[in-house]
Amino acid sequence: MKFTPQKYSIVDERMKPFIDPLEICDYLKKTQSSKERVRDIIAKSLSKQRLNLEEVACLINANTPELIEEIKEGAKTLKRSIYGNRIVLFAPLYIGNKCTNDCQYCGFRISNKNAIRRTLSDEEIIKEIESLEDEGQKRLILVYGEHAEYSPEFIAHTVRIAYSVKKGKGEIRRVNINAAPLEIEGFREVKSSGIGTYQIFQETYHPEAYKIYHLKGRKADYGYRLTALDRAQEAGIDDVGIGALFGLYDWRFEVMGLVRHTNHLEACYNVGPHTISFPRVKDASGLNLKTNYFVSDEDFTKLIAILRLAVPYTGMILTAREPASLRNEIIQYGISQIDGGTSIEIGSYAEKSGTEKNLNRGQFRINDDRPLNEIIDELLEQGMIPSFCTACYRIGRTGEHFMEFSVPGFIKRYCTPNAILTLAEYLIDYAPEQTANNGWRVINKTIEEIEDEKMKISIKNKIELLKSGKRDLY
Ligand code: SAM
Ligand code: SF4
Repeated sequence: MKFTPQKYSIVDERMKPFIDPLEICDYLKKTQSSKERVRDIIAKSLSKQRLNLEEVACLINANTPELIEEIKEGAKTLKRSIYGNRIVLFAPLYIGNKCTNDCQYCGFRISNKNAIRRTLSDEEIIKEIESLEDEGQKRLILVYGEHAEYSPEFIAHTVRIAYSVKKGKGEIRRVNINAAPLEIEGFREVKSSGIGTYQIFQETYHPEAYKIYHLKGRKADYGYRLTALDRAQEAGIDDVGIGALFGLYDWRFEVMGLVRHTNHLEACYNVGPHTISFPRVKDASGLNLKTNYFVSDEDFTKLIAILRLAVPYTGMILTAREPASLRNEIIQYGISQIDGGTSIEIGSYAEKSGTEKNLNRGQFRINDDRPLNEIIDELLEQGMIPSFCTACYRIGRTGEHFMEFSVPGFIKRYCTPNAILTLAEYLIDYAPEQTANNGWRVINKTIEEIEDEKMKISIKNKIELLKSGKRDLY
């Protein structure tokens, strides 16, 4: 099901380049942030209306500790009252790191002669997936460098492998991809393999800054990358993820760029991005990045809260690039998905604990390498429901976050029960005793809080079915 966004003229929107640096800078320069205005904007977001660029600029320019606290509180309230306490878990799986581009921040860049290059064979992919299934993973994102070897056919082939591997009770139910932009035909090929989200980050929305970091290869073309999701949409991929790599240019500009990109997709295709990502630049093999734009933890937290308020019905992803303590803290400001049990050295899931942590084997350094179960333990301790839910994707519902947000009772009727059922599966199939005890406690408490008696009974019945061996109920 799709939704009707704010009214734009689609024709006008398509005809103009949708990132206009002067327009963005103008908003940032001219927008004043009085207390009253900031409070009105937070209230607007809490009343389930998304924010326009001028309003986002106003939140960005709010710099007093008092207003920043109010923005964070607003984001927290929005997250808690609308999305509840679910966090979706996934794992990244790097398929290959050959790359013809020269992105200055990335360990895979062609000029990095120390990178240990590798592309997983079919057998190796199967081993990786089996190891991930052994841990209880259900949702993956496959990641690729940009290289002729990683053709649309190759990408589609690897996605099909991921869906086909079944070990024990394990199975992968949703495969997203993060791959270089393709032509429309290429996107059609990839779509045919049944991907969930196609994710691509613009890195920086500022065209001049973009030139500084992208020296060679196809990725040096800012416009080709910026329009990737338009081609994906033309090819019928309407589930897309956007992102910016924070640290390359002023974070304020990037936040505006992300919101502008969201507006563009909504206006032209009637569906905004499914997710927004906001990686911060981390150490990488031979990294020698000259930038004044690294983002502090304080600004990072603020920008996440602003994004939550700006696009209240878009999923937000916080990855293992960030340390556990910060992730635990920031989740409350609006994060809906995190990766868990992450390992990014190519082929390393099958190596288990024997993995050599060598920066030349990965794209960058991650800072949270907790096993999946440990992350689940900590989420449960905070009273959250770790979820592996893939129901919307499998019944063909697009724009699920929007529905969660806007359709009265959607979360109560669908999301909470499905999150509970996928957690219950995990507890039965994979969890050690201690985790299982905590998990059932959280599940029971959540069920008790459900007001609808019929719903309560239905969930309890389905849990009994899971205990008796049925799987994948939603
Ligand atoms: N080759 C594909 C591309 O460029 O679109 C795949 C992207 S890469 C495997 C996934 C993302 O990691 C990049 O888009 C970039 O934002 C991010 N990344 C690259 N180097 C990074 C670093 N040093 N620290 C944090 N994130 C980084
Ligand atoms: Fe290649 Fe992507 Fe790394 Fe750029 S970010 S060097 S395109 S893998």
